[in-house]
Amino acid sequence: MRQNQEHKPGENNIERTPVTMYKVSYRCPLCRKGYMETQAGCVALSDPPQYPAKCNICGEKRMLNNIYPHLDHSTKNNTYGTN
Ligand SMILES: [Zn+2]
Repeated sequence: MRQNQEHKPGENNIERTPVTMYKVSYRCPLCRKGYMETQAGCVALSDPPQYPAKCNICGEKRMLNNIYPHLDHSTKNNTYGTN
């Protein structure tokens, strides 16, 4: 806790910004029908780290550098996944 604050913490410090949530999925590069889903378990300690993923239709396994699917958000309304 910080001391000697000029103002008491409270609603003055709270800002609420509407956000758009979206789900980021990784289409399977092999069958192009399924989606790659990160498997629970070991993460390769490379740089960047790699996560084992498996297609939910054909079973293709790949190491991906992110977790899929995952949720992301934008503070720009009605804008999807461009950043
Ligand atoms: Zn597949």
